[in-house]
Amino acid sequence: MASRRISSLISRSLPLLSRGGKQTYVGRGIYRYSTAAALEDPIKPPVTVQYDKLLINGQFVDAASGKTFPTLDPRTGEVIAHVAEGDAEDINRAVAAARKAFDEGPWPKMTAYERQRILLRFADLVEKHNDEIAALESWDSGKPFEQSAQVEIPMFVRLFRYYAGWADKIHGLTIQADGPHHVQTLHEPIGVAGQIIPWNFPLVMFGWKVGPALACGNTVVLKTAEQTPLSALLVSKLLHEAGLPDGVLNIVSGFGPTAGAALCRHMDVDKIAFTGSTETGKIVLESSAKSNLKPVTLELGGNHLLLFVRMLMWTKLLSWHTLLYFSIRTYVHEKVYDEFIEKAKARALKRVVGDPFKVGIEQGPQIDAEQFEKILKYIRSGKESGATLETGGDRFGTKGYYIQPTVFSNVKDDMLIATDEIFGPVQTVLKFKDLGEVIQRANNTRYGLAAGVFTQNLDTANTLMRALRVGTVWINCFDTFDATIPFGGYKMSGIGREKGEYSLKNYLQVKAVVMPLKNPAWL
Ligand code: NAD
Repeated sequence: MASRRISSLISRSLPLLSRGGKQTYVGRGIYRYSTAAALEDPIKPPVTVQYDKLLINGQFVDAASGKTFPTLDPRTGEVIAHVAEGDAEDINRAVAAARKAFDEGPWPKMTAYERQRILLRFADLVEKHNDEIAALESWDSGKPFEQSAQVEIPMFVRLFRYYAGWADKIHGLTIQADGPHHVQTLHEPIGVAGQIIPWNFPLVMFGWKVGPALACGNTVVLKTAEQTPLSALLVSKLLHEAGLPDGVLNIVSGFGPTAGAALCRHMDVDKIAFTGSTETGKIVLESSAKSNLKPVTLELGGNHLLLFVRMLMWTKLLSWHTLLYFSIRTYVHEKVYDEFIEKAKARALKRVVGDPFKVGIEQGPQIDAEQFEKILKYIRSGKESGATLETGGDRFGTKGYYIQPTVFSNVKDDMLIATDEIFGPVQTVLKFKDLGEVIQRANNTRYGLAAGVFTQNLDTANTLMRALRVGTVWINCFDTFDATIPFGGYKMSGIGREKGEYSLKNYLQVKAVVMPLKNPAWL
């Protein structure tokens, strides 16, 4: 079913996407484009920008200051649209709308069944507009259209259906108290949720946060990333079409130190959910402490870990969509190290980089000049610190923010390219001898987001799943995500979990209700 859908999407998209660029069929549904054509001749995205204002109380409005900021096409650095730039005053307006919609409005008072139906209708509408939304997402973020259309937007739809399913299944407990009392717990929505998201998965992050918040009956003020404000505005229009009452979801585009900071310190915001860098996460937590002690969940930086004890399933692992940002510390057992380097290098060389709107593209441009420069700086640091550059190591083409897929071998644990989160297409490969040693080295980092382990030995798998101090361990697979699987970090990779049942806890308060019992039969 899923693969049928994907192939029909590809064939529907092909005529649209195959303009410009020399196309060569390389098998298994993949077309490769010549680099020069890919970069010289950006394809006109098959979508227009319809919404560029702030969404407050169900209306698209200008910023109070009248200011706008440009959102750029990462393929060229050219302006896609000028978007209303929210600031503290707009956050005040958005929070007031969300507050009213929570305290007085229909959303938390609606039956859970009605809320569920709106979320399900929304999922259907997103599905109907899949390719249009995917095109906008790819235009603004630079990620391959195929990835947006076949993976991320369908994932977003499933996520909303999943949380719609939870809406009428949120129950408290009846508790046997130590005495003649009837005790129950009510799981109540927390109130106005402030949410801040990054650019790397704009809509997926929207789903992880807005989905559970709305299902639990909260209202929301969402600040999107300044690099990728567009897709959230488009889907929010659909959410209102599906029946969402005004004021329940408000979207403020804008910058972190202005709009983001105002949201975090707002006294009428009851909760903050943040995804972004560890450095910003600390500021967010501090703002909560200095304002109203609103609970904070943080999904922060990571330095994904890959551990190859055996060469297993590696081709699948290095398949096209998994390693969009393959900034991964890869520990490889010395017995398979040389073979691994050869294969990683060959795969990086084959990786198809180019215009996200061309079919078969595995890697688009980086998001902006800042991220592009940051990655190149890490690559220079890798070279200077003595790691061996196996392939890549430079920009790709002359326009936009494309970077060559890069592999470093002979990486040492204390090199910056191993300790920091590069967040770009750079793989760093380290050698290990035995399990005890690699566990100690792998855990010797301030991050603890996720790890992938490749082994055929059950004992090794069991040892590593317990020993690694990370929020997710993938065993003989990697980057496997769905709505039901919780995600979050140990250590400085975050606080709390998103997705799955766990995320509901972020958006619910527990109220204990105690009543005396007269002549209880069973006490
Ligand atoms: P960032 O922290 O600079 O920005 C993220 C968001 O925070 C943006 O919306 C930004 O405007 C806002 N922001 C910035 N300063 C702020 C402030 N002072 N107050 C409030 N908000 C502020 O992060 P980035 O570099 O844009 O995003 C990439 C980071 O996100 C990486 O570190 C990556 O690991 C992390 N990330 C983590 C997860 C996860 O699940 N743990 C998922 C995706 C991305």
